[in-house]
Amino acid sequence: TFEHLTSDFYGYQNLLTDREKNALTELREYLDAEVRPIVNGCWERAEFPHQVIKPLAKLGMYSYSWPETAPFTNSAVFRGFVALELSRVDASVATFAGVQNGLVAGSISACGSAEQRAEWLPKIASGDVVGAFGLTEPLSGSDAARGLQTTARRDGDTWVLNGAKRWIGNGTFSDITIIWARDVADEQVKGFIVPTDTEGYTATKIEGKISLRTVQNADIVLENVVVPETLRLQEANSFKDTAKVLRLTRAEVSWSAVGNAVGAYDAAVAYSKTRMQFGKPIGGHQMVQDLLVKSLGNITASLGMVVRVSQMLDEGTQRDEHSALAKTYTTSRMRESVAWCRELFGGNGIVLEYDVARHFADAEAIYSYEGTQEMNTLIVGRSITGQAAFI
Ligand code: FAD
Repeated sequence: TFEHLTSDFYGYQNLLTDREKNALTELREYLDAEVRPIVNGCWERAEFPHQVIKPLAKLGMYSYSWPETAPFTNSAVFRGFVALELSRVDASVATFAGVQNGLVAGSISACGSAEQRAEWLPKIASGDVVGAFGLTEPLSGSDAARGLQTTARRDGDTWVLNGAKRWIGNGTFSDITIIWARDVADEQVKGFIVPTDTEGYTATKIEGKISLRTVQNADIVLENVVVPETLRLQEANSFKDTAKVLRLTRAEVSWSAVGNAVGAYDAAVAYSKTRMQFGKPIGGHQMVQDLLVKSLGNITASLGMVVRVSQMLDEGTQRDEHSALAKTYTTSRMRESVAWCRELFGGNGIVLEYDVARHFADAEAIYSYEGTQEMNTLIVGRSITGQAAFI
């Protein structure tokens, strides 16, 4: 099925089962038919295409990862290829699914009680409940653990939340937002499932983005927001538990980074065969081939890395520094590759219609979110030297 994809140069998709390959084909057909035609318009208008939420749910985008909801037993490598396919078409749609599935369902799966998992994961899987993940604050991004200032105060059977969150993806329209807040009693970071219609909760869209414009990021303010103890994530007792979620999502974002580069590369290969200069397709010029081959080298090296990191997840050996290395490496290689692919288009490379401009611009947000290049480097640095350089 995948022979036509030069971007999977070493055939990593051969690791998948037939069932996984079929599911991926089904996803690709949906994305090509329904999503690809609308993404440039959505990006230009900075609008989210709400019509994709339910079809993506039917395709398993928010359920494959969790035993409670998975339509069939599948591998982390398969789920990585799912993230790649989404991002290959549009990194904003991939980010929506990554938040809904990885960050929101992931928080509930990793930090919720059995009852909370049973209650929320099916609603998230079906897309009936759309979630957001509120960790970053106006004054704390990289320093999310130590700098987190949103407070949670226990009051009988309820908690009272106060503070502000920034950059929260899906935040303008989510039904629930996972809010990470510091318990004033023991000073530990805890997680809360906050219904967004709760009094005192407001979300305002961040305007004027030049990257992932389709993702709706919000500034959130919490003023005496009251939630019951039943909505506190029962297994989130400190930031170490939050970090468990981020380890998983960083690996998925690495796959997404490869997908965003593949989207640019696919477009560049196609363009190199049709654009004529000096009497032949530009793909026949040596330096244009160099741009394509360097991009393919980056993609292939990155793919090898994310495949292995996903295998380590299934083997139970994946640690924070493994996904951090994948995040820092693949996003750096993506950033180089999308620039080379954009270059190949000449002037047309800055026009949305040719797709490559969107992949080029979206690379910037992927490079910085879920831990910047520097922070993920320092997580790996701590692991290999035994010295933490960032605290
Ligand atoms: P800062 O932490 O202010 O960093 C600024 C610069 O300083 C960076 O280059 C950084 O690497 C560097 N720096 C900081 N400390 C050090 C150090 N010790 N050593 C070396 N360099 C350092 N957050 C959420 O909670 N939920 C979301 O859904 C979400 N979605 C996002 C979507 C988008 C499109 C974007 C752009 C961000 C999103 N974020 C979200 C926030 C994101 O995770 C943060 O932007 C990111 O962690 C970086 O934090 P910051 O922007 O505050 O940068």
